[in-house]
Amino acid sequence: PGPQLPHDPTKKTIVVLGSGWGATSFLNTLDTTDYNVVVISPRNFFLFTPLLPSVAVGTLSPRSILQPTRYVTRHKARSVEVIEAEAQSVDPINKTVSFIDNSDIQGAVSSTTIPYDYLVYAVGAEVQTFGIKGVQENACFMKELHDAEKMQRRFLDCLESAAFPGQSEAEIERLLHMVVVGGGPTGVELSGELHDFLEEDLKMWYPELAGKIKITLVEALPSVLPMFSKRLIDYTMSTFKESKIDILTQTMVKEVGEKTVTLAMPDKSIVEMPCGMVVWAAGNKGRKITQDLMAQLPTAQTNKRGITIDEYLQMNGTDGTIFAIGDCTSSSHAPTAQVAQQQGSYLARAFAQRVKGDNLKAQLAELEASAATILHEDERKKVLDEAEGVKRQLSKFKIRPFSYSHQGTLAYIGSDKAIADLPFLNGSFASGGFLTYYFWRSAYISTLFSLRNRSLVVTDWIRTKVFGRDVSREW
Ligand code: FAD
Ligand code: NAD
Repeated sequence: PGPQLPHDPTKKTIVVLGSGWGATSFLNTLDTTDYNVVVISPRNFFLFTPLLPSVAVGTLSPRSILQPTRYVTRHKARSVEVIEAEAQSVDPINKTVSFIDNSDIQGAVSSTTIPYDYLVYAVGAEVQTFGIKGVQENACFMKELHDAEKMQRRFLDCLESAAFPGQSEAEIERLLHMVVVGGGPTGVELSGELHDFLEEDLKMWYPELAGKIKITLVEALPSVLPMFSKRLIDYTMSTFKESKIDILTQTMVKEVGEKTVTLAMPDKSIVEMPCGMVVWAAGNKGRKITQDLMAQLPTAQTNKRGITIDEYLQMNGTDGTIFAIGDCTSSSHAPTAQVAQQQGSYLARAFAQRVKGDNLKAQLAELEASAATILHEDERKKVLDEAEGVKRQLSKFKIRPFSYSHQGTLAYIGSDKAIADLPFLNGSFASGGFLTYYFWRSAYISTLFSLRNRSLVVTDWIRTKVFGRDVSREW
């Protein structure tokens, strides 16, 4: 038997896959009065990714940037079923989703299949390793909460091992060399956060190691942050220079070993660089479930970057029953939280519209059916007039296509400095110091979904300012 869902057979069922930016924004906006809603995600919380690098260096506690999905769904008009499970496959023909409980503890039932009328597909993407040797085994990532926690453990372990009595200078140098791969916003923000930790806390907690740490940012393209304007790229490069973060551009990581990283330099020479930690932030690729789903629609889904969608966010090749949002898609927009969030709330509003249309269609069908059974001409004419009115309403009824409104791009680059490309004010803005520090912080605070998270993050910032970052290493 399938799971017991809060099922009302008169209503259509929306199954939502994911609990990230797209799915959470969809759930926040959706009016559940007219639908059965089921959410399936392997993590039962929303993760506020922009502050993940701050967790990795201990500025914020992990729990401060999580919001349980049930906190979102409990305020809804009708109850929403939240299932902690990983979707394994989608059958777009029979309109079903199969999923499994792949957590440590499982009950007697740990896999099942459910039907959907509409599927909101928001499973995001996974880290792109390009199959480069040693990345999966030896590097840390910066995508999920456990990635940030793993990086923090590894980073602190490097510090403690470097402080071990009798360590040679060469080994200390290796252990204290942190390599970040990928000069996109994730790699740049992480390098900035690492630098802050070293500046503000290392001198206090490990005075004997201060000055020996080195951060290297490796980027295959000619410059870091290609999505920002040249002025902001130059500002970031000069800030990193002052912060003593080495940037190696036009340099490609070829292999990640246990204690080294192998680089193809701009002059084509191959260099093996000793290091204590490698953080891999080289971009996204589609998940296996997404590739499998696309493979079932081979003529409509040919873009390797992700699911092709139309202006209503419907997956091409499906009959208007699968909607895909966020990083799993290949639209003209960058894979950002901002895009996923706007797509999620648009889709929820479109579902409210869709129900109005469905109700009008049902009303029309009812009027036409009843007119066919009425013998008295005047009465039948009255009903047909009413049906004409509903038809007129239906002809005017349409769902507007999705349109993205870019609110600007903001990145923290360490040393209390941030850069921003803003569409208003007609340009870009880069600055440092007290004001930027608070601008960056208030921008993030205002996008955090709940008051609870806002209070937790602000409390963490105050704690870090007063007491320093937590350097205890979890086992
Ligand atoms: P996600 O938020 O990744 O959510 C995907 C969800 O699907 C997750 O809940 C996951 O558990 C679930 N899932 C995975 N597999 C399955 C499955 N098989 N079945 C069901 N559910 C599944 N963007 C910005 O605009 N501004 C920023 O400042 C910013 N900072 C970032 C910082 C970092 C460190 C990172 C990694 C990204 C950052 N981004 C930022 C990008 C942003 O996080 C993504 O674009 C955004 O998360 C995409 O939203 P999404 O809903 O598509 O995917
Ligand atoms: P990205 O794709 O933006 O950048 C990855 C970088 O890694 C690329 O520049 C690529 O050239 C480089 N790279 C790939 N393979 C390499 C190799 N072998 N050696 C050296 N360099 C290599 O990835 P990201 O930074 O994780 O960002 C992903 C998405 O999330 C983007 O859309 C980004 O805009 C968004 N994001 C936004 C923010 C923000 O707005 N503050 C922060 C983080 C992420």
